[in-house]
Formats: sequence, structure tokens, C-alpha cells
Amino acid sequence: MFIENEDGWIMTLSPEAGRRFFDLLLTIDREECDRVQALGCPDCLGPLDRGDNARKLRAGPLQHLAVGLRRANLCCRDCRHRQMPESVVFLGRRVYAGFVVVLASILASGLTPRRLARVQMSLGVSAQTVGRWQHWWRSAFVATPPWASRRGDFLPPLNRLALPTDLMARFKRDANPGRLLLMLQFLAPWSNLREGR
Ligand SMILES: [Zn+2]
Repeated sequence: MFIENEDGWIMTLSPEAGRRFFDLLLTIDREECDRVQALGCPDCLGPLDRGDNARKLRAGPLQHLAVGLRRANLCCRDCRHRQMPESVVFLGRRVYAGFVVVLASILASGLTPRRLARVQMSLGVSAQTVGRWQHWWRSAFVATPPWASRRGDFLPPLNRLALPTDLMARFKRDANPGRLLLMLQFLAPWSNLREGR
């Protein structure tokens, strides 16, 4: 897995590092689900049971690790209230993993057609889909409630037309995939919104 963009940041993941990265994402999701489950139902304080959903996930070069993955979901035993914990793997209702959405959106901006083709091959996303995501960041994404509450955390203000690259750039510039992980954790409140394709 090798990707780069015009700014020169490069992400290389050996198969072993790819597995560690994906395992870390799954661990974060599992801990978040356990935490939410332990709190009980927000409506009636009843116990929450797991009612996970089978979800096909397209995870680019880490596809082999995503086989049989399920989206965590919780259901109240008493009032049937359903609650989907936040995730760093899934992003909304998309079939693509969050990290694929982020990387493809960033890497596709400003690339020559030849390099864009390489990015598409590496991540398994069509140019049309990436174009749709780039439009999403700059329109629907900035109209969501989590954005309204968190955009003020960034100074100088984020450039909407440079999303998501400008957003990613604000996270500590430590070794990748550390920065990508911070980005996915920031995006977790978007993971259970019922919007985005
Ligand atoms: Zn309940």
C-alpha cells in the first residue's frame, strides 16, 4: 500500500503494518461499543444487547481484513431503542471504509490523470465516486451538526473548498498512519449519521 500526494506526504504500509493499523481501528471500535453498552439505554436505562448488522465493506488494500466484518449496533432489551456506537472503520452509510474515503478524497485532489489512476487502483475507487465524495466534503459535510459544533476548534478557520485536505493537515504531523488515525477519530461523530453515500 503506497500513496502520495502533491504535498509530498507519503504513506507506506507493509502488509504487517496494514494489519496492525486495521486491528487498531477494530480495537477502538470495540472499546467504544463496550463503553456505550455499559452506560445502558439513554431512554429507560435498560440493558443494551448487541444487534450487529452484516455490512459489506470495501477497504481497498486492506480488503482481506474486512471479510465478514459487522457494524456494531445496540438495542435496548426493554424499550427496543436502537443505538449505533461511533466507529473509526465505517463512515456513515458508505460501503467504503472511512480511511478509503479520506485518503482517496485527499489524494485525488490536484493529481495528474496518470497518478490519479494509480491512486484509484491502489484504493479501488472509481473517479466518479471520488468526485462525489469531494463534493460531499464541501457541501453536505459542512452542513452537519457535528461540524457546526467542532469547526470553531480550528484557527485559522478551515478552508471549506480545501476539505478534507486542510482538515487532515491540522492534525499533528507525526508519522503516518498516526495522522490518519487522528482524522478518523475526529470523524467518528459522522460514522453513525444517516447521510452520505
Ligand atoms: Zn430503553
